[in-house]
Amino acid sequence: MSLTVEKEHKKVQTEVLVIGGGTAGFAAAIAAARNGAKVILVEQRDHLGGTHSGGMVMMIRSMRHMRAPQGADHKKVMITSYESSFDDQQVVFSIAQEYIDRMLDIGSAWGAKGQATARQLFDPEIAKWVIERMVLDAGVDVWFYSQTTELLLADGSVTGVVIENLQERIEISAKVTIDTTGNGDVCAAAGARFEQGDPHDGNCQPMTLYFVMGGVDLERTLAYIRDNPAEFGQQYVDTVLRMRTEGKPFTVLPFKSKIKEGLANGDYPIPYGIDKVNPDTLTYMARPMFRNGKFRYDLMSHNMDMAYNVDATNRRELTKATIAMRDIAVKMAAFYRKYIPGYEDSYLVHTAQSVGIRDSRRIVGDYTLTKHDVLSGRKFEDGIGRYGSVVDVHDKDGKESLMLAEVGGSGWFHIPYRTLVPSGVRNLLVAGRCISADYVAQGCTRSQAACMMTGQATGTAAALAVKAGVEPREVNIPELQKTLASQNQLI
Ligand SMILES: Cc1cc2nc3c(=O)[nH]c(=O)nc-3n(C[C@H](O)[C@H](O)[C@H](O)COP(=O)(O)OP(=O)(O)OC[C@H]3O[C@@H](n4cnc5c(N)ncnc54)[C@H](O)[C@@H]3O)c2cc1C
Repeated sequence: MSLTVEKEHKKVQTEVLVIGGGTAGFAAAIAAARNGAKVILVEQRDHLGGTHSGGMVMMIRSMRHMRAPQGADHKKVMITSYESSFDDQQVVFSIAQEYIDRMLDIGSAWGAKGQATARQLFDPEIAKWVIERMVLDAGVDVWFYSQTTELLLADGSVTGVVIENLQERIEISAKVTIDTTGNGDVCAAAGARFEQGDPHDGNCQPMTLYFVMGGVDLERTLAYIRDNPAEFGQQYVDTVLRMRTEGKPFTVLPFKSKIKEGLANGDYPIPYGIDKVNPDTLTYMARPMFRNGKFRYDLMSHNMDMAYNVDATNRRELTKATIAMRDIAVKMAAFYRKYIPGYEDSYLVHTAQSVGIRDSRRIVGDYTLTKHDVLSGRKFEDGIGRYGSVVDVHDKDGKESLMLAEVGGSGWFHIPYRTLVPSGVRNLLVAGRCISADYVAQGCTRSQAACMMTGQATGTAAALAVKAGVEPREVNIPELQKTLASQNQLI
């Protein structure tokens, strides 16, 4: 006997609808609500912050424009000493700074109140809670566990979405919708054009499933690094030891000789999608976690390029890659236990709640930010904020990542509003890593501070559009810039 249960059908209205409660989405929702709009924030998972929190990416790069020291070892030094630096000019403020200040207040970020470091370290677990408090304080209606199954479209205008499960079907209609899904899912469903991956072959940068190792005796690990300068380079060794002594954040780089040994013995797991590893160019970083006001030197977060050439917008491919990455995390934990001094009694505490996707769709907007714009520090009349972090494009074949440290000109470029307006679609904005940027420029704009900034700009623009009764493309740019500046963003 089959029993068919009638689904409950509901209709809900809002002014601004934000789909995706991640790094960009939380800032978009707060900004829209603070600027007077009624806001619903739809998130498919059970927490806010996305890759920033559940993905466990625990460094905001960068609220400053970064002029890294040049020289042979600049990359290594940059990810050790530079991350705690307050030297270069801070360019991102407002919601991002307020959030960091709240985290600092409760010992969940490293640094000093009212300013951010070049790579702002934080506790990704407490981040979920602080973001929830900020979003709720702003008056946002948060919907967790909500799958978007359909887009509501009328004459090229996005009018809302359908949220559906086995019990209910809810149509949410909105005056403006903001796509902060990371993959640009809403824009793609609305028929917006997009690009994906490297224009030469369409392949995307590698993915990572962050994992945390507990029970580490890091002093022994650091002693090994100290005693093996040939393996790491003297400049790096000196820097990492100084950072430890000064109680500052630092990064533990790959142990090349141990990896070679592990590879020879079949103990080192090869990333998914490639067939060999080059220990000399491998991207692998481990960092002590900062929790409740202290570095926890027994608790190390690990970030390794694990899955190559995966299309994150393809459910089957992403499933295979996720399963492979968890397998790699377990095997990597075993490798560390067997080969790395200080890890002998360590254990895998957990893998991240969500996989880290570096790139997938880049939505084509009314303007596409280019590598040249970024590297020349270009200014735009419709700039919604300043940005100047490094360009970081991870290699698709497991070779060395492209890391361009210098943004020219004054050290920062504008992100134009038009990069947030998907071309050919109305009543839709996009923020986060999938804004309109070319492959190399996205290596810069995918950083968290830029995601928060573009999120805030879209939320503010959406609220202004609702007030003025215009579609977001027609928002008055000087008014948008004035509003953002009055809310402490540098334009
Ligand atoms: C491994 C890794 C390391 C990185 N390292 C750094 C670093 O050190 N510093 C730095 O600044 N940046 C770093 N980045 C980049 C940065 O973290 C991300 O680009 C950024 O967080 C992405 O933000 P986002 O808002 O676009 O997407 P996300 O933060 O991923 O948010 C997307 C949200 O949308 C939700 N969602 C998706 N689809 C739907 C749907 N249909 N309905 C409802 N909800 C949906 C998701 O669940 C998620 O919560 C790294 C990225 C990776 C992957």
